[in-house]
Amino acid sequence: MDLNLSIKNSHLTTMRMYAKRLEKLEIFTLHDLLFHFPHRYDDLSLTSSIALAQNGETVTIRGVVIEAKTQYTRRGFNIQNVVIKDETGQINCVWFNQPFILNTLHVADTVSVSGRVEMKGANKNIMVKSYEVLYSENTKMRHTGILVPIYPETRGVSSKWIRNRIAELLEQVVFDEYLPQELITSHKLLELSDAIAKIHFPKSIEDSLNARRRLSFDELFLIQLSAVIKREEWKQKVKSKPFKIKAFTSEIQKLIDSLPFTLTNAQIKAFKSISKDLTSNTPMNRMLEGDVGSGKTVVAAVAIYSAFLNSYQSVLMAPTEILANQHFDTISRILTPFGVKVGLITGSYKKEKEKQHDVLIGTHALIHKTVTFDTLNLVIIDEQQRFGVRQRSVLRDKGVSPHFLTMTATPIPRTVFLAMYGDLDISYLDEMPKGRTKIKTWLVPASKRAASYEWLKQQVNKVSKGRSGQVFIICPFIEESESATTVKAALKEFALLKDEVFKEYSVGLLHGKMKSTEKKKVLDDFHKGKIDILVATPVVEVGIDIPNATVMVIEAAERFGLSQLHQLRGRVGRSKRESFCLLFTESDNPTTVKRLKSLERVQNGATLAEIDLKLRGPGDMYGTAQHGIPRLKIASFSDRALLEATRNEAHAYFPKLQDYPSLKQQVKSTIIQEVSPD
Ligand code: ADP
Ligand code: MG
Repeated sequence: MDLNLSIKNSHLTTMRMYAKRLEKLEIFTLHDLLFHFPHRYDDLSLTSSIALAQNGETVTIRGVVIEAKTQYTRRGFNIQNVVIKDETGQINCVWFNQPFILNTLHVADTVSVSGRVEMKGANKNIMVKSYEVLYSENTKMRHTGILVPIYPETRGVSSKWIRNRIAELLEQVVFDEYLPQELITSHKLLELSDAIAKIHFPKSIEDSLNARRRLSFDELFLIQLSAVIKREEWKQKVKSKPFKIKAFTSEIQKLIDSLPFTLTNAQIKAFKSISKDLTSNTPMNRMLEGDVGSGKTVVAAVAIYSAFLNSYQSVLMAPTEILANQHFDTISRILTPFGVKVGLITGSYKKEKEKQHDVLIGTHALIHKTVTFDTLNLVIIDEQQRFGVRQRSVLRDKGVSPHFLTMTATPIPRTVFLAMYGDLDISYLDEMPKGRTKIKTWLVPASKRAASYEWLKQQVNKVSKGRSGQVFIICPFIEESESATTVKAALKEFALLKDEVFKEYSVGLLHGKMKSTEKKKVLDDFHKGKIDILVATPVVEVGIDIPNATVMVIEAAERFGLSQLHQLRGRVGRSKRESFCLLFTESDNPTTVKRLKSLERVQNGATLAEIDLKLRGPGDMYGTAQHGIPRLKIASFSDRALLEATRNEAHAYFPKLQDYPSLKQQVKSTIIQEVSPD
């Protein structure tokens, strides 16, 4: 059977009918279905005869139906009573409001039922949790009497349905083993077929753990092996060497001395690594990772200057127009006095004579084919996870093997980084510029909302250096993908804040659906202090620099990952003024509260990322689409031992991959986040 067969074209009618619903679970092929793993098991493995079943016990009982009927109660409920018997006695099986049960269970059927035993006087009942008809002596149980797998479900697709389909498929398929036998032996792994069978239908918890270990091993091993391959390919592909760059140390120093502040040690170290890359014979492929406000732009500016001193052009691409404008301002301020010609290209500002510029800053409009360069040597991409591989490669082709620097504020734990981006070098800006104040953070329960609004007004009323305070309120609404109704709801919320809560103040709105000219106007007004309170969506989170804003309020904070909250919080605390962050939540779930409270103590993005990784797992932490890191199916990035073991094996097997054709084939079909600009 071809497992790559899409569900839509499956020969099984039941399957085809479910194709649309299964897409919600990201199941498109039979293979996807078999790799849809249970997230837990219901232990229904304790079996008993009817006579020995004890009050209060959860057991599985097998018997023959002797009576089946529905009973209607006065309040409009109905109860299904099905009496079964075995050699030792009889028991009444009970369901609530499931009259269709009687269509499948008939007198004389042999059935297996699992549930809790309840004595009512002398009568034995079982509150049925799961049941199945046993059509013959050797029908294998799937829903009772075993560790029953429970799957991530979706509307109209129950675990029971998934279980049935998977059980049917497992009888028909064999998986070809692709791992080298010596790996299986030395890491004491199950064979692939065995692991797939046991992850779905383990005979014991131990079985399931072994299956999980084998499948996790594969996932991490393949991802890392493909990262190693990418890195090598990147080195190979770059046949033509980049233009040679000289260091110009004293000129660079002059630029650094001209800055209104001293660089942090982390910034100096990062630039040294970059400079080393630039002056070497292979194109740089480096990521610059640093918390919001850690000063990545300045590092980029120095790198651009370095290319300029060698008479080469650079390009800096940002994910939004707002950010591109801001970078343009910053870079111009730093580099124009040194004779660097800085240009800007965004969607709304197109016709530029780009060839005359030493550095072009812009949005994805930069990749347009009319934008050409004579001597493009350095490509810098801000918040790279927002761009696709293609966009990066288009940029690369505008130069001759240019150097690549990507910048991100998403704190990626080192373990994750090594696994996913093994093909990149990395520099961390793990030190904040001096003089930054700690941002006082509070988690605000629903009961304190009104009081908080009063407090916010006081903050706005505080005047310092002739300016009153300014506040951000972030609401998780109006995402680009959202519907007209959500927009309406958001506008209503905005109206409430503007016309009632803060009616004596000037309240502005900024969201992703606005035109860029409108956005720019709102931001300018906020910058100038014409707006006191800016209600904004997280779409515009990245990079806004409004030093006078000192309070960040985040609505429905539970919807965000800690890293994202931390990035939002980084919009304030950019001046000497005391700064605050208020997290609003209606949730009283203890785990959520605990998670959010960690922001009160922890000010460091990397630590928060680790906490998120532990509490929510990497899938949630990164939100697949937004950050481009794929959700692991079964392994965990927090399993350091396995990560390390698989990384070592990935490096060990890379050089001899030719000898393992099926492994090679398998790794080819492993999709990982592509960061190399190729
Ligand atoms: P990010 O890493 O978030 O992109 P930016 O590069 O936008 O950070 O820098 C944030 C702010 O900090 C800017 O206003 C910048 O001028 C300032 N800054 C950068 N480096 C330093 C430093 N070493 N000392 C003081 N301020 C700095
Ligand atoms: Mg930035």
